[in-house]
Amino acid sequence: MARFDPAAIRAQFPILATGPDGKRVHYLDNAASAQMPQAVLDAVIRFETTQRANVHRGVHRLAEAATNAYDGARAAVARYLGVTPDGIVFTSGTTAAINTVAHALGETLSAGDEIVISELEHHGNIVPWQMLAQRRGLVLRALPVTAEGTIDLTALDRVVTKKCRLIALAHASNVTGAVLDPAPVAAAARAMGARVLLDGAQRIPHGPLDLLALGCDFYAFSGHKMFAPHGIGVLWGRPDLLAALPPFLGGGGMIEQVTLERTTYATPPRRFEAGTPPIGAAIGLAAAVDWIAGLDWQAATEHEKRLTGRILDGLSAITGAHVIGPTGLQGRLGVVSVVLDGAHPHDVSQILDTHNVACRGGHHCAQPLHARFGVNGSTRASLAPYNGDDDVDAFLAGLADAAARLR
Ligand code: PMP
Repeated sequence: MARFDPAAIRAQFPILATGPDGKRVHYLDNAASAQMPQAVLDAVIRFETTQRANVHRGVHRLAEAATNAYDGARAAVARYLGVTPDGIVFTSGTTAAINTVAHALGETLSAGDEIVISELEHHGNIVPWQMLAQRRGLVLRALPVTAEGTIDLTALDRVVTKKCRLIALAHASNVTGAVLDPAPVAAAARAMGARVLLDGAQRIPHGPLDLLALGCDFYAFSGHKMFAPHGIGVLWGRPDLLAALPPFLGGGGMIEQVTLERTTYATPPRRFEAGTPPIGAAIGLAAAVDWIAGLDWQAATEHEKRLTGRILDGLSAITGAHVIGPTGLQGRLGVVSVVLDGAHPHDVSQILDTHNVACRGGHHCAQPLHARFGVNGSTRASLAPYNGDDDVDAFLAGLADAAARLR
């Protein structure tokens, strides 16, 4: 097999050629938002310039073209995930998807019911459950995190009780890069009659996924982390479950019949899509899915793994640098968070910026996880298939510079 060529992939991403001031950026902030290839930009422009209209309302030709394109986008995402389109709810992102479940499923829960999350969750998979727990008198419990930065599944027996109604966990951590094995989680949930929600925001950009094999009931992700526009995401739900849940947001598009006294609701997925959806962004998401499906993921995964190894090796040579998370290459993605002794992650990121390296410094919306490791934040490099050795080397050089200047 030919060696994986990240430069050929990078060439499809206009922003990676130029950067904000004409200088090439070593873009290692993919876990926050990945960049968009020309194919996605073209699909959005094509829609906005030839098909733009609202969907599911008008009967004129533009409205029909827009509706077909939007429904086609749903079908494309469903095909990619190996599921039926009736389980694909378009949302504005992972956060909106999780909040939708928190409200819709939340309506069916009563005081004393329990929800289980973990200590490594993104705030998007913590706060909606805390708010729900407050609204309905539920109990929120958390699985601990191991010293290696993975969810401690040995605690499932202790934490998941008969009162558990939902286990909501990150499929992959946005800080440690650790990937969850969902099988024991699904088994623990089934034993108690609970549902499983996986927050797939970080797993989804790293190649095809057999969604039905995961054993979950809900799966949430964002388009902007998988080479698609901002403002679009997906809540996948088992169609039978979605059909049994009440809507969250009310308004146009989600109804069957409205009188001034009462409303009956459309069947899913439209029951959960009140108001005008992000139509162009959904079309961009479908183009991104096609683009992803065209990559050689075996090679891309090997490539990301090799670069992750290069980062981990390089870090071990920088005095005072500590990785939060797995120090090996098994069971992890190319997301590496580093603490530099004595240095604030914002200062580290700023120095990295002077090296033309874009990566994230802070708590990455995971304060409880950083508290678990006794730190306020970290500096995170996160990879995509367009990253190369030069990006990693620039990151390591910038980090060594930061270590020398800040300690
Ligand atoms: N969960 C995880 C694991 C994430 O990484 C993110 C994005 N950082 C989110 C949820 C929230 O995604 P969004 O902001 O797109 O809703």
